[in-house]
Amino acid sequence: MSVETKTTCPYCGVGCGVIASVDDHGKVSVKGDPEHPANYGRLCSKGSALAETIDLDGRVLYPEILGQRASWDVALDLVATRFSETIAEQGPDSVAFYVSGQLLTEDYYVANKLMKGFIGSANIDTNSRLCMSSSVAGHRRAFGSDTVPGTYEDIELADLVILTGSNLAWCHPVIYQRLAAAKVARPGMKVVVIDPRRTMTSDIADLHLAIRPDGDVALFMGLLAQLAQSAAINQNFIALHTEGFPDAFAEASALSFSDLLDKTGLPAMQLREFFRLFVTTEKVVTCYSQGVNQSSSGTDKVNAIINCHLATGRIGRPGMGPFSLTGQPNAMGGREVGGLANMLAAHMAIENAEDRDRVQRFWNAPTIAERPGLKAVDMFRAVADGRIKALWIMATNPVVSMPDADAVEAAIKACPFVVVSDVLKETDTTRHAHVLLPSLGWGEKDGTVTNSERRISRQREYLPAPGDAKPDWWQMAEVGRRMGFAEAFAFGSAADIFAEHAALSSFENDGSRDFDIGAYAQIAIRDYDTLSPFQWPQPAGSLLQMTRFFAEGGFFHPDRKARFVPVKPPISDRTNADFPFTLNTGRIRDQWHTMTRTGKSARLSAHIAEPFAEIHPRDAVEIGVGDASLVEIESPHGKVIVRALVTERQARGSLFVPMHWNDQFAAKARIDVVVTPLTDPVSGQPASKNVAVAARPFKAV
Ligand code: SF4
Repeated sequence: MSVETKTTCPYCGVGCGVIASVDDHGKVSVKGDPEHPANYGRLCSKGSALAETIDLDGRVLYPEILGQRASWDVALDLVATRFSETIAEQGPDSVAFYVSGQLLTEDYYVANKLMKGFIGSANIDTNSRLCMSSSVAGHRRAFGSDTVPGTYEDIELADLVILTGSNLAWCHPVIYQRLAAAKVARPGMKVVVIDPRRTMTSDIADLHLAIRPDGDVALFMGLLAQLAQSAAINQNFIALHTEGFPDAFAEASALSFSDLLDKTGLPAMQLREFFRLFVTTEKVVTCYSQGVNQSSSGTDKVNAIINCHLATGRIGRPGMGPFSLTGQPNAMGGREVGGLANMLAAHMAIENAEDRDRVQRFWNAPTIAERPGLKAVDMFRAVADGRIKALWIMATNPVVSMPDADAVEAAIKACPFVVVSDVLKETDTTRHAHVLLPSLGWGEKDGTVTNSERRISRQREYLPAPGDAKPDWWQMAEVGRRMGFAEAFAFGSAADIFAEHAALSSFENDGSRDFDIGAYAQIAIRDYDTLSPFQWPQPAGSLLQMTRFFAEGGFFHPDRKARFVPVKPPISDRTNADFPFTLNTGRIRDQWHTMTRTGKSARLSAHIAEPFAEIHPRDAVEIGVGDASLVEIESPHGKVIVRALVTERQARGSLFVPMHWNDQFAAKARIDVVVTPLTDPVSGQPASKNVAVAARPFKAV
């Protein structure tokens, strides 16, 4: 007889419900949870292969100090002592945590509390910085808070779905399945895909705009100017619920049509058709993902999109709104508990003295970080130049995933004290750990995650902890206790942490903050165990869910109005004579991040077996590269060697290389070695979609 457990997929931000079954022989199988509102029983290839990736091969099972097995007491004492000594000698900003959207909300909460309230620094950042921080910044500028206005259902209800910078078919496959099914059911529905590449998602598009890299700001500026001259403009909504329309419109209308053609690289006919579709369709959802976020103008792109929805009042109503799709399973949960260097817990602002005071009083903390900490790219620069002397990396592999990855590896290697918490013993990052701590993996740990539509779901434990592995929150809490903060970190379970997080979310909340799940403030462990997926906010004292925001205004700026943000088209062409190609990095369908889990499944690896560079046939001829031959890609930061995939799906002058491969699966294929550490000035998100590189046939010497 099998025992079934309802849990949540640990991969992408769709957050699908999974039913995991363990039979009498301990064999695990998974299926989609038909009752989970994110997926209603569907799973993608990665989700349905989960059972193939949970064996203990390669796991780290015991704490290690310099590669030697140690007890938890000895390892945790060492971590606490080294962090305390470093802080005492060099100040709180000499230490840092680099965490992950793979962590559960409870892990994130404890890490954030320890760093910001008890160490007194905001040097905690996350790999979510690489994923969606431009959306966070754009939301905060426009709405006054980091709030996603809509739900997945809106994508099905829309008459026009715009996918910009999103290869939905491969990166959020279950939402793609829902969209594809809706399009079949309602043939009048139109889909526009805006992407320099013709991806698998483009195959569903009625209109594919093969835009220039970083042409999106200009495109949505052009759209705003068109909307202002059409019947689609909603003067009532603009007057009642927004500020700043004249300035945004003035910038947008200053862009001539010929500039627009130049900046976007699109034919006039396609531009006009796009504008016509948006102007004439009331129910529009604009989904955006990493092609928008991972840009030196990512925040402006987000605001250019939101400007168009504010101008038409198409927000927060069924089938309407801007919609940021998060990459990771808990990028959103991390945001809720302040897991970014520039945020406090419960969506409060680190720059706001009242918010800082409120959080400090709630935590009864000895201190509180007073200014934003170092964002990911700057954090590793500070490690490199010796400002950071003790670093704790948790559930992420920055030696593969950070831009300028070789420089990041050198920085970690030179750091005087590095702690890594991970499930695997040998990753490109764990090999540099002074202290390696064994964490629980999916199926072993307990907590919550929040998906792209603000839906909080449980990840549940259904497998025994292997060896001495422990939850990430427990590791942080134990170190907090050993640093002298026993009372503040006396958590006995993930449920205790969730209850504290929920209580903070409604602590002295006069309604001006968007995150109030006060009904859960006194949650009993029994309720937490049986918690069904729900969307925040859950108004205090009520089980009614508020699924959409802002249809009637009610934004979170002090005057409760949204802000139009005037934007300008950025420099988009970064190529030059030495580096004439534009590199774009991204995901493939069947791998996840640096392949440490999905790489275990032969079935998943069979989809695409090795790293590749997509290149247009004419570019391939020009540089003398044949299909399937090896190509060397170089930037000022490094080089990689991958196999050429010659395809007309790729625009001329551009290359696409997947982000997944690490040195364990293919030598010299860590593409982030090549990626420039250029970031968006507002969000700090790296610009991984527009990197100037050279490409040439690889010649073995
Ligand atoms: Fe998991 Fe995302 Fe696939 Fe759903 S769509 S099964 S959350 S990887």
